[in-house]
Amino acid sequence: MTDRIRDFLRARRDLGRDEGPVMVLDLDVVRENYTAFARALPDTRVFYAVKANPAPEVLRLLAEMGSCFDTASVAEIEMALAAGATAERISFGNTIKKERCIARALRLGVRLFAVDCEVETDKIFRAAAEVGVEAGEVQVFCRILCDGAGADWPLSRKFGCEPEMAVSVLEHAHVRGLQAYGVSFHVGSQQGNTEAWDGALASAAMIFRECALRGIGLSMVNLGGGFPTRYLKAVPGVDSYGNAIFRALTKHFGNRLPETIIEPGRGMVGNAGMIEAEVVLVSKKSRGQDEVRWVYLDIGKFGGLAETMDESIRYRVRTERDADDASPCILAGPTCDSMDVLYEREHYPLPVSLSIGDKVLIEGTGAYTTTYAAVAFNGFPPLQQIVI
Ligand SMILES: *Cc1c(COP(=O)(O)O)cnc(C)c1O
Repeated sequence: MTDRIRDFLRARRDLGRDEGPVMVLDLDVVRENYTAFARALPDTRVFYAVKANPAPEVLRLLAEMGSCFDTASVAEIEMALAAGATAERISFGNTIKKERCIARALRLGVRLFAVDCEVETDKIFRAAAEVGVEAGEVQVFCRILCDGAGADWPLSRKFGCEPEMAVSVLEHAHVRGLQAYGVSFHVGSQQGNTEAWDGALASAAMIFRECALRGIGLSMVNLGGGFPTRYLKAVPGVDSYGNAIFRALTKHFGNRLPETIIEPGRGMVGNAGMIEAEVVLVSKKSRGQDEVRWVYLDIGKFGGLAETMDESIRYRVRTERDADDASPCILAGPTCDSMDVLYEREHYPLPVSLSIGDKVLIEGTGAYTTTYAAVAFNGFPPLQQIVI
């Protein structure tokens, strides 16, 4: 937790304005993270993955610092533009887009698009014709599958195609007159293994060679996101990722290094945010001595902690009683849905003295929380965010 967040929460409590869970995000940390990415991968352009946290303050800061933006929808494109990014600094990175959204993006000036199959490429071709944009001005990169091994939040098989198929998708784009621009992949979010990029870069280099044989000169490799933030376990620093990626790039591309971009989301904002929540109830299901406690908070899976699904992301929870003895408990949210349990399979140790009304701090919650909160499920408002 940063001093700024601690002071802010204290002042808020002193004013009696501490009702409801809140996520407080410290922009200084985002600034440090951006600088660290820019230093660790100096020849790589940073496209912040807007979906991780689209707060206007975050987007404005990153736009000012020179960041580009990876977007998933027209709404995110508009947010990036409103924050001061020009259209040539925006990519439409979702491989699943309505044709009319592609047309809208083109009208807004966006020229960089992800695809993972021929029919999506055709949508871009048709949308460009409709809007009156030269096909040759539109850059298309093909996403390839990545198994996500080593990641706590793998992105599985939903996005990307087999590398061999990417060659024909890019050839298809080229034949259509679009610019076959490059290859992208995502090694899985919260990727703990700095070497995870190696396999995908081998595939990317193969695709570059195969395309070259067909007279298509690819230029760019989009290295995606996956850079972790610190939860309970320590994670390697961003420099280690930069070094490992640079080694893998040189290994597979030799001295003809492609243009590269990264799309950090979690790694850019995760550690900048902290949620303050409250204990609503501590209870047991029977009188047995060994019965485990249930601790219910006023935030759960529907209030912004969706990434506790399958207990994938284990947040650090701090209390004001951390000096006291701790014992394992089941940690749950407040809604009337039995899915709304954060940690049950692996019990979470919390102080035995923890009581109703105590505040708890959930660290590393700057990414994938505010936008993962249900709208008024059970009448609970979506997670509030305050950017300081
Ligand atoms: C979600 C996403 C990212 C961000 O991933 P992180 O693991 O949060 O860094 C980057 N690129 C694409 C295409 C994504 O969908």
